[in-house]
Amino acid sequence: MQTVRALGTDVLDLFRRQGELSRIDVIEASGLSRSTVNQRLTLLLDAGLILPTGGGESTGGRPSSKFRFNTERACILAADIGASGFTAAVCDLDGRPLTTTSRTIEVAEGPEAVLAAVVGAFEELAPELEVWGIGIGVPGPVEFAARRVVNPPIMSGWDRFDIAGWFAPHYDAPVVVENDANARAIAEARSLGLDNVIALKLGSGVGAGLVSNGQLIRGDKGAAGDIGHTRSVTRDAEARLCRCGNLDCVEAYAGGWALRRDLERVGIATSSTSDVVALLERGDEVALARVRAAGRTLGDAVATLVGVFNPRAVVVSGRLAESGEVLFSGIRERVYQQAAPLLTGDLVIAKTTLGDEAGVIGLALETIDTVFSGEEVAAPRAVVAVG
Ligand SMILES: [Zn+2]
Repeated sequence: MQTVRALGTDVLDLFRRQGELSRIDVIEASGLSRSTVNQRLTLLLDAGLILPTGGGESTGGRPSSKFRFNTERACILAADIGASGFTAAVCDLDGRPLTTTSRTIEVAEGPEAVLAAVVGAFEELAPELEVWGIGIGVPGPVEFAARRVVNPPIMSGWDRFDIAGWFAPHYDAPVVVENDANARAIAEARSLGLDNVIALKLGSGVGAGLVSNGQLIRGDKGAAGDIGHTRSVTRDAEARLCRCGNLDCVEAYAGGWALRRDLERVGIATSSTSDVVALLERGDEVALARVRAAGRTLGDAVATLVGVFNPRAVVVSGRLAESGEVLFSGIRERVYQQAAPLLTGDLVIAKTTLGDEAGVIGLALETIDTVFSGEEVAAPRAVVAVG
């Protein structure tokens, strides 16, 4: 790992972004001298981070070849924790999940119980590759530099819990902690090759991750994009209590938990957001009406974000994203009504193509970026020593 950081990342980044490259390609793309490039390539080859692929140019009588990033030099473990369960994955160094597993557990059970289940899942996945980093996604605001959750509305017991330190006895690798919607925004932006993307996560709660001009927007306290707890534009005559304690939040109308509460009031029992989606599939009129209204509420909130950030795509993931057109038509209706034509002309509003893995992909990508950035990411052991 030390070697990796000492290499500098310019040449490695070229391989990560552009795929297979010859020596000449690297010289041209990097602007570095031939001798510097040769030196970097040798270091990267020695570190096992690039592999020769053959078939490249031959210069000066010396057989040469192309090289590619060795995505299976090591792996990243990622866990995308939601309100009522998580997906864990072993990912390669390109963020691709190699193996995944899911567990049902309430995040409100607290960090000890949930993280123990995450470690259990990682152990079951039994990565064969060296673990170079761990990415943990949580459904709450994250102080990224400190790798802690701060003032989470729904994660009782998690406030400022030392997540990285908790992994220290289990793994000697840097830990990245990120908000779940932010991780999805990274995954969607990379997957689409776009610099301006809003990733909407619709599960029990409502969250949004923002990538603007290629940069993830976290905000001052890690709570940027938390549209679930902004005030809903359309409101019932009687104020709705949100689980954060405020009244009339977007989530109180459009979160999976709120939809379940509404259905329960008219005698329809559900045990998860997936049950709500199942009702839609069966054509349940009450559920269809509620989800259509939820789509409009979400559309109002998204329209504001579209006005501020001018994204190229709004990508929706999470359990409720499975609702289909009944949800999406409401979102689109309000966004196209409210945002200026210049903002909506090329705007795409669509379900993710990454499925349930959007979260772990984003977490893995962010962890890899952090590992290769050369930034000082203290290993968990060091955090414990300080704390
Ligand atoms: Zn709220």
